[in-house]
Amino acid sequence: MDKQNLEAMRHSCEHVLTMAMVKLYPGLKPAMGPATEDGFYFDFDYSSKISEEDFPKIEAEMQKIIKADLPFVHSEISVEEARKVFADNPYKIEWAEEADKKGEKVSIYTIQGQSEAESFIDVCKGPHVESTGKIGPFKLLSIAGAYWHGDEKNKMLTRIYGICFPTQQELDNHLHMLEEAKKRDHRKLGKELELFAVPDDVGPGLFIWLPKGYVVFKELEKFELDLQQKMGYQNVRTPHIGKKELWVRSGHWDLYRDKMYSPMKIDDEEYLVKPMNCPMHIMVYKNKIRSYKELPLKIGEVASVYRYEQSGELSGLTRVRYFNQDDSHIFCMPDQVETEVIKVLDLLEQLYKSFGLTEIKYWFTIRSEDKKDKYLGDDNMWAQAEAAIESALKQKGAKYTPEPGEAKFYGPSIDVMVNDSLGRKWQCGTIQVDFALPERFEMEYIGSDGQTHRPVMIHRALFGSVERFLAVVIEHLAGNFPVWLSPVQVQIIPITDRQNDYAQNVLEQLMDANIRVGIDSRSEKMQAKIRDAQMQKIPYMLIIGDKEVEGNTVAVRTREGEDLGAIKLDGFQAKILGEIKNRS
Ligand code: ZN
Repeated sequence: MDKQNLEAMRHSCEHVLTMAMVKLYPGLKPAMGPATEDGFYFDFDYSSKISEEDFPKIEAEMQKIIKADLPFVHSEISVEEARKVFADNPYKIEWAEEADKKGEKVSIYTIQGQSEAESFIDVCKGPHVESTGKIGPFKLLSIAGAYWHGDEKNKMLTRIYGICFPTQQELDNHLHMLEEAKKRDHRKLGKELELFAVPDDVGPGLFIWLPKGYVVFKELEKFELDLQQKMGYQNVRTPHIGKKELWVRSGHWDLYRDKMYSPMKIDDEEYLVKPMNCPMHIMVYKNKIRSYKELPLKIGEVASVYRYEQSGELSGLTRVRYFNQDDSHIFCMPDQVETEVIKVLDLLEQLYKSFGLTEIKYWFTIRSEDKKDKYLGDDNMWAQAEAAIESALKQKGAKYTPEPGEAKFYGPSIDVMVNDSLGRKWQCGTIQVDFALPERFEMEYIGSDGQTHRPVMIHRALFGSVERFLAVVIEHLAGNFPVWLSPVQVQIIPITDRQNDYAQNVLEQLMDANIRVGIDSRSEKMQAKIRDAQMQKIPYMLIIGDKEVEGNTVAVRTREGEDLGAIKLDGFQAKILGEIKNRS
């Protein structure tokens, strides 16, 4: 089934839900709801509580409507008629008046029953399937509260989510995926594996990396910085705050203010906490006179940035108010832009592939024609920047889709979408081409002709937010980090107290070799210790009994339950160091 038909089917299923609800709950007012990527949701205004325990009853009523194979009939009515038809439903009247304001008639769809009483009318633009019998297998999933128009000043409505697929097999697969996703949820694993916390005392959206999580964070950072060093990047460190004037000049104050926190005063001057690092890196560029021979100049920093997100949107590490960005700015000559963008794409793919994230798609974000005042720079700059990006994507042979209206205020971009092992899409890195900020900050370089010229600036964050990327990696790998990334790489498990001295020696030798190693010397049963190490997703366990002490060996087990047998400690050490070095 193609995308359009799928959407029509899911949208039709949503009408069937609404029809069933109206029948089952007298006095209930349907508000609105769309088809979603896998199904639909709908918001209802109802005085009593509806819970997930009611789903079987609602689903049975929906089944009846589907079985009856009732036709969907489209018609258009005037706003006056709509006021009569939907007299007791202010939500529908609001929609009808909205249409009227645009000089349109009110589009309605009727699920046609045997009589008027058995029919169901809703304000809707369609499209729909011909009749309810064309709707595939569905399931209601969950209930949540939602404000009308998403505005907390409005009434809280009851939102019901459902999914709908062409075949039972596809529906079952999706349900299985959702089960698996629950187990892999990075918020759940983050707690169980002691990676991070979001203490209420600090504030919503302000997470803390715990010791184990910080190991993972630092390893990820080091991995990228090592690769970048080979490509000529140089690292800097810049402040978390800067004068308000700096952000006025960069355009952030005018065009990005809704994401920024209020100014603070220091010595009678206003300062802002940074949402991005661009102006700071521009200051690095402007620290001295630059020659064309220095270009491209690649300035990198893994930097903490702070952006406002609505409290209702905050979630784990993926929607936060503070995060660390693997931010770099490449300052180059106009004719270097394409080549540099390609190099960045190459690096990005290399990074992502190291985590098994190979399904990458690119969004090519461009301006929307009707909102030109939301962007810096003139048409010519935008045309150049967009052409450079598109040409780079074409040369790479990359899959991309243009996204009008999604450009950053200073330039078009490539936004990176990646599919994880459950087929879910995540937005991660970004690459942006910017002619505007170099203009605003009067940046220059001396060309081969001895004259001054303006450089172009490429903004790029490959992980995007390091935290967000780690959340994706955690869910993608179900917390089973590769050895090099694991907070604890080896767990030593002495079977009884008799082996404690030997186990201690093993611990010291591995620690000396910079391997992250723990020891479980509790007087628990060996099986319990193994289970705990597996729960902690530690890649290797070294089981030590009398036999191992006598033979000067360790019995190696993997977290997957594979028994590698007894090997000499030096042999094991060489094996694991090899894996860490190769980041395999
Ligand atoms: Zn930037």
